[in-house]
Amino acid sequence: MNATLALMGNPNSGKTTLFNNLTGARQHVGNYPGITVEKREGRLKIEELDITVVDLPGTYSLTAYTQDELVARNFLIENNPDAVVTVLDATNLERSLYLVLQILELGTPVIVVLNMMDEVRRKGVSIDTTRLSALLGTPILEMVARTGEGREALLKEARKAMLEQRPARTELRISYGHDLDETLDAMQELIDSSNFLDGRYPSRWLGLKYLENDAEVLALGQSKPDVHARLREMTATLADHCRKTLNTEPESLIADYRYGFISGLLKDGVVTRPTTQARFDLTDKLDTVLTNRLAGPLLMFAIIYLMFELTFTLGEVPMGWVESFFGWLSEKASATLPEGLLSSLIVSGIIDGVGGVLGFTPLILIMFFFLSFLEDSGYMARMAYMLDRVFRIFGLHGCSVMPFIISGGIPGGCAVPGVMAARTLRSPKEKIATVLTAPFLSCGAKVPVFLLLAAAFFPGSGASALFWITLGGWVMALLSARILRSTVIKGEATPFVMELPPYRMPTLKGMCLHTWERVWQYIKKAGTVILAISILLWAAMTFPGPSEEQTARFEDQRATTQAMAWDSDEALEEALTGIDNAEAQEALRTSLAGMIGTALEPVSKPAGFDWRTNIALLGGFAAKEVIVSSLGTAYSLGEVDPEESVGLSEKLRSDPAWNVWVAVSLIAFVLLYAPCFVTVAVIGREIGWKWAAFSVGFNTVLAYGVSVTIYQVGMKL
Ligand code: GDP
Ligand code: MG
Repeated sequence: MNATLALMGNPNSGKTTLFNNLTGARQHVGNYPGITVEKREGRLKIEELDITVVDLPGTYSLTAYTQDELVARNFLIENNPDAVVTVLDATNLERSLYLVLQILELGTPVIVVLNMMDEVRRKGVSIDTTRLSALLGTPILEMVARTGEGREALLKEARKAMLEQRPARTELRISYGHDLDETLDAMQELIDSSNFLDGRYPSRWLGLKYLENDAEVLALGQSKPDVHARLREMTATLADHCRKTLNTEPESLIADYRYGFISGLLKDGVVTRPTTQARFDLTDKLDTVLTNRLAGPLLMFAIIYLMFELTFTLGEVPMGWVESFFGWLSEKASATLPEGLLSSLIVSGIIDGVGGVLGFTPLILIMFFFLSFLEDSGYMARMAYMLDRVFRIFGLHGCSVMPFIISGGIPGGCAVPGVMAARTLRSPKEKIATVLTAPFLSCGAKVPVFLLLAAAFFPGSGASALFWITLGGWVMALLSARILRSTVIKGEATPFVMELPPYRMPTLKGMCLHTWERVWQYIKKAGTVILAISILLWAAMTFPGPSEEQTARFEDQRATTQAMAWDSDEALEEALTGIDNAEAQEALRTSLAGMIGTALEPVSKPAGFDWRTNIALLGGFAAKEVIVSSLGTAYSLGEVDPEESVGLSEKLRSDPAWNVWVAVSLIAFVLLYAPCFVTVAVIGREIGWKWAAFSVGFNTVLAYGVSVTIYQVGMKL
């Protein structure tokens, strides 16, 4: 059986030495057709295999800058050798892995040979080849080509590679950061769907080559002018964006990220150098502090806390503006429109719905601004690196921490920006698990419910109640993540390279642009869905409404009340408000939501909830803020301001249907059940509508289970 084995590597890595060792005297030196690049071929027999060994020219890269590089690259693509051995100078791993990455990105399976191991050992450096091999997903062999050490192992591995069924081409996928990845994804889609260059090259690789302005690939691309033009256009747009935001070209970003990937590879205890040999540049200096065993985590928590505080305290001000603007708008609308359904639809359905969506934008804006800073500066990668060990236990990733904190890991967060913050996660399974579990934390809209119930049933211990509830949220989030990762999102945590790009000062303009893009996406996409749902919910809480008789009865009551003699105007006002509240309660009870709430009583009773609580919880699907105010309406107290719910907590305490266990059960339910609709819409956008639906179902079932357990066990005690 005939086969081809190609040797690749940097100049001076010992390729020719290895080649001579493998082939002995059976070799032949010529030229590649038409050019002066030397072509060295030899023969080698491994058992039944008759192998042609090709010593390709030494290169540092696979761009098309030099003829050597082009020869090596085209040999890989066109001759498709049965095995490719890359020879690395192990004393200079960073530089030589750069070439390996590019070969892997091309989808060619390789055997990596770490040559010059004698020198490595002499310098007292140790290399964990097993780990490196797992991270890269390729076999790695140690070798001293000069003495022939490692030859047998290499022959065995090469034979295996040649006889084995070739695995389908799987390209190494390196992330090139938010902007480039997005463009590469789009390019890949275009290339795949148009069968560009007949699928001879991996599509992502072609995209990269366009971004690198690779002369050879650009020339090939001309054969399909329309796709070529589109790809050029995408490249130009991206290049323009990179110049504006980061003051650099895509090409140099690509190189940066490759080196970042390599330093991530080598950081994880793969290479241990004697301390005297440590390299020192700015990034290393910063890292001695920022990823220090003690100071690192402390600084990290300080930074996380600061970011959280800044997001929500700075966000409060513009959120207030948005709120008062929409308040003003609904007042104006109520004043100008004749009272009735249309006014109710516009005020409660549309204005409140749109206001609810836009109300989140200041938070998202500020959060993404800080997040852009952490990401663009390179610190985010370090954070993930430090936390990865802990989060990995739960099937999550170091980057999961931000989404968790922002969603309410510190009470008062919000799952909407929290879920969006999960974009920094690049491994898809961990991202899904993070997005699905982050809504278990104590977001700012749940907190008033907790405080209300704590005030009613655990007077004076609001703060400690909130502490335990928050802790409960974390426990549930982490445990569910673990459960999800071993069931529906099963999959081994792939040995994952944490990319550690060099620290870089982000530009203000770049951060603003990044921030704006994300905020605009939110407004555009989430806005339309939420408006529609908000109108549906309004309808559910309005129709069919009380019968005419009932309305007439309240009118009569009003008339009689007004006709009676009152001591003061205030007393009359109060009596009339009482009637209004009773009417509002009646309206809610006779609405679709009220009917569902009542119909659900048999189901909700085991958890301790009656129809009033059910309505409030149904409203909570729209926004958790609605829970307290709906409870207010259902207990005919009128619209209750969540901040001042003293009246409501007294009412609940004295109500015979309520006790401590109902309260605890309800707290658990509110903490865990379906995320609000804005969050669901964002989840759908980030990881797909199937998962969004799953999160509604899973969370509600889980919440119900926990609440029933709490109530049933509690009542037996
Ligand atoms: P090429 O440019 O990749 O073909 O590299 P060569 O085979 O010409 O080797 C470059 C230099 O490295 C030569 O001086 C070799 O003797 C030396 N060399 C090759 N392999 C080893 C090795 O395993 N250990 C050491 N110490 N030197 C080696
Ligand atoms: Mg040579």
